[in-house]
Amino acid sequence: MSTTEKHHFQAEIQQLLDIVIHSLYTDKEIFVRELISNAADACEKLRFKQSSGETPYQSDVALGISIAADEKENTITITDTGVGMTHGEMVENLGTIAHSGTKAFLKQLATDKKPDAKLIGQFGVGFYSAFMAAKKVTVFSRSALADEAGWRWTSEGMGGYEIETAADLPRGTKIVLELKDDAKEFAATTTLERIIKRYSSFVPFPIELGGNRLNTVQAIWARSKNEIKDEEYNEFYRFIGHDQDEPLLRLHFSADAPLAIQTLLFVPKRNMETMGMTRVESEVNLYCRKVLIQAKAKGLLPEWLRFLRGVVDSEDIPLNISRETMQDTSLIQKLNKVISGRFLKHLDELSEKDAAAYDKFYDEFNRYLKEGIASDFTHREAIGKLLRYESSSTEKGKRTSLADYVKRMPSDQKEIYFLLAPNREAAEASPYYEVFQSRKYEVLFLFDPWDEFVMDHLHTFEGKDVKAAEKADINLADTEKKEGALTDDEAKDLAAWMKTVLGDRVGEVRSSQRLVESPAVLMDSDKYMTASMRRILKAMKPGGGIAAQFKHDLELNPRHTIITRLHHMRQTDATLAGQGRGTGPRQRASPPGCSMIRA
Ligand code: ADP
Ligand code: MG
Repeated sequence: MSTTEKHHFQAEIQQLLDIVIHSLYTDKEIFVRELISNAADACEKLRFKQSSGETPYQSDVALGISIAADEKENTITITDTGVGMTHGEMVENLGTIAHSGTKAFLKQLATDKKPDAKLIGQFGVGFYSAFMAAKKVTVFSRSALADEAGWRWTSEGMGGYEIETAADLPRGTKIVLELKDDAKEFAATTTLERIIKRYSSFVPFPIELGGNRLNTVQAIWARSKNEIKDEEYNEFYRFIGHDQDEPLLRLHFSADAPLAIQTLLFVPKRNMETMGMTRVESEVNLYCRKVLIQAKAKGLLPEWLRFLRGVVDSEDIPLNISRETMQDTSLIQKLNKVISGRFLKHLDELSEKDAAAYDKFYDEFNRYLKEGIASDFTHREAIGKLLRYESSSTEKGKRTSLADYVKRMPSDQKEIYFLLAPNREAAEASPYYEVFQSRKYEVLFLFDPWDEFVMDHLHTFEGKDVKAAEKADINLADTEKKEGALTDDEAKDLAAWMKTVLGDRVGEVRSSQRLVESPAVLMDSDKYMTASMRRILKAMKPGGGIAAQFKHDLELNPRHTIITRLHHMRQTDATLAGQGRGTGPRQRASPPGCSMIRA
């Protein structure tokens, strides 16, 4: 006689179920997509086993999914002939081990006023959507492993689940949903048919509803581009991307050399990492002649392209390769290089052809490109081409590429300059910017502290050094030489005096060759440290750390009236002239220009 085991759901899963059962009222229909998607995954896994030489239990049973609905009983039954689950897999997959997405999905639900159930599959917890429509879920499963038994899993969502043995099950999984009163509509065949056609046309296994075949199995990526309609692409995306929306971008290409590949990639509309997902996983699946080799294939794309979804099909992959070792093969590395190169080229072309579409992409996903600059040396220059920043030559709110920047560079300008500021107004008013304005050199305006590190990693672009404005070693244009400015000797004298007044509070004091409007500016004496890096370091270690080791140099503007007047006051005023013998910080003795330093 079989005994019934009682189990608790893991706490996070129970929390998720509470919400699924009690608070999600809209888009219930997506549970159909999620359960069919799991059935299809199970079939894929079995097909893979077969193709790599394993003989599964009931090896002559064809792979497929069948769905039945009973309007009288208010039940839906979804059956697949896939890999099935052992007892251990049932416990683990349906209730014990929370996927990494569970927490993120909970967070997303908590922050949304109208919780969005549609996203559940994207967070990797699609199975639990069954409880949106069902008051009771029963899962019968028989693993494809020869020596296993059949098991029956039941749950009403709250209060855990039960498992007991089930005799005489065929290979695969059967899920029976007893519908809630407010979900009876789903037991109608017409409703189910509509939903399945919407989301699951591209499931690569036959789906039958009440004995009728609904989908024609087709590998869209293997077909020729010009015979595929947008709507077909979008449907395919909705299926593989677990997404309700259309994709933002798609790239479909095939190549024969250096590798035979067919690739269909999509960029989703939304960046899930800004929606609470701490880190999305690449959802690009690797196929060989339409047979799935590995879902979410590791190593197939660089980490910074993890927001992509889609399919890569290559004839060159040996079918019996082990999933564990595949990640490191030179074949995968080659695929990685070809695909990421093509994708970058696609983005570059898009930015030329359809700037508005590229802007949309950039707004949502620019952080990934920047991550690529920092982490992917092979593609650094190519990604650099895709960066966009506001600059002193763009209108407010408009961005330029570095390539266009370089094209505009006057012949005497040797480097690319950037300036980090909270906003455009602050950038334009910055004393660091004055010398560039005077020289008519364009400066990229960066508004995100991240970007400064990005520029640091980029280092050069089209052979030009990329440099922080405050570190640039350039002087004002000759036209700025002004009537009444201090001579070099006078400026030197004033600077020396001011150093004695300010003592240890500054590093060097010197005459500046870069100021027009401002009387003085603080320059970091370290060659690489910029003002914002210093701020970040200080925030990390207040009062100490490396940041404290560097002193600011003070540069005085010998053309500014405050500075020239200060010089003249020193000549005429004996008290001032005598000042500075003492040491230490003395507020009273601070030169008037200091209060106007805008560093
Ligand atoms: P995901 O599909 O993103 O892994 P789900 O919550 O949809 O997340 O499913 C959880 C897990 O349960 C699956 O990864 C799989 O291991 C198992 N599972 C669900 N449905 C089936 C099925 N029909 N056949 C075999 N295993 C299944
Ligand atoms: Mg799933």
